Amino acid sequence: MHQIAVLPGDGIGPEITREAVKVLKAAGEKHQLGLVFSHHLVGGALLDAQGVALSDELIENCRRNDAVLFGAVGGPKWDHLDMQNRADHALIRLRKELSVYANLRQFRLYAALEDASAVKTDLIAGGVDFIILRELSSGAYYGQPKFREDTPRGRRAVDTIEYFDFQVERLARYGFELARQRRGKLTSMSKWNALESSRLWRDVVEEVAREYPDVDTRHEIVDAGAMNLIRRPTEYDVIVMPNMFGDILGDEAAVLAGSIGMVPSAEISLDSTSLYEPIHGSANDIEGKNVANPLAMILSAALLLRYSLNCPAGADDIDRAVGKVIEGGYRTADIWKPADQQRVSTTEMGDLVVEMLSE
Ligand code: NAD
Repeated sequence: MHQIAVLPGDGIGPEITREAVKVLKAAGEKHQLGLVFSHHLVGGALLDAQGVALSDELIENCRRNDAVLFGAVGGPKWDHLDMQNRADHALIRLRKELSVYANLRQFRLYAALEDASAVKTDLIAGGVDFIILRELSSGAYYGQPKFREDTPRGRRAVDTIEYFDFQVERLARYGFELARQRRGKLTSMSKWNALESSRLWRDVVEEVAREYPDVDTRHEIVDAGAMNLIRRPTEYDVIVMPNMFGDILGDEAAVLAGSIGMVPSAEISLDSTSLYEPIHGSANDIEGKNVANPLAMILSAALLLRYSLNCPAGADDIDRAVGKVIEGGYRTADIWKPADQQRVSTTEMGDLVVEMLSE
């Protein structure tokens, strides 16, 4: 038996999560996983009900489960609140409470979606399929000192980039293991020509690489890497990078996938429960219209089966079912082109994936 905490959240969160649970239930039955779901309010929905965006009880609940399926949080209704009470702060705190240290984003462009990608078709011919593994526990966003001050020369602001070798090592190791399960290629992107922290990053990745002689390891300076991701996206398999670079390049890479509604992610915990969520937010502009693309959420559910429940066959089934639906010409509004494609709602997209799962 596996227990999954479902936190739909706000905006389109409940709509897309409903479809992902439908798909997970079908895959769970097929692979006899004995999935048990519990649903919980979080973010704005919990603020409205209990006055807090995340409660200690909910954190404990998440820790007790085998995985967390998270929709999205936030919206204009709660934007006026101070940072600590904002709906979207719930996710930041939950990540910390669950000790997540790696953010895994999977970028895959289905062949039939090439026309939806913002990148020229000759650059993506041959298929885009790579993972960005971003370090999430340290780096520029957390390093101390971090402050602003008034000085005789004017206002001054300081941020600090800090990395310990063990933080780089555990991320690199996870990246190498992923590469082994995939196409055996790992690219490390950092800024070793200018930053001491990146020189340590590169050294540690090199050290770990010696344990993985079967993995083809490369280093790229992150600014060149940002360009190459668009110019030669088909060449990448697993890319590891420090927190801030992963934040920026993770969004850049989303243009390859055709829509932000197509990119799933996992947040891998060190010693607790991992969290699975689409990379997009609560898309309040399309909330309640049954037009949101649920595929990023459904593909996040596939990552959950692969990385938390150790059921790669179930994950492959979902990936294949999504591929068949796309090949079949079915599209939600964000990826729809009038040509000969059939426009479907959020619910219909979920139903189609379930139908393809049983084929
Ligand atoms: P967003 O990602 O919610 O939306 C950006 C644009 O992409 C919108 O036009 C939206 O309609 C579209 N979009 C997003 N997901 C889609 C989907 N599945 N199908 C079709 N179209 C989709 O970003 P935003 O508008 O800047 O933020 C809205 C709210 O979400 C804010 O309150 C923000 O703080 C919050 N947010 C939450 C998370 C999270 O929970 N992980 C992440 C980012 C933003």
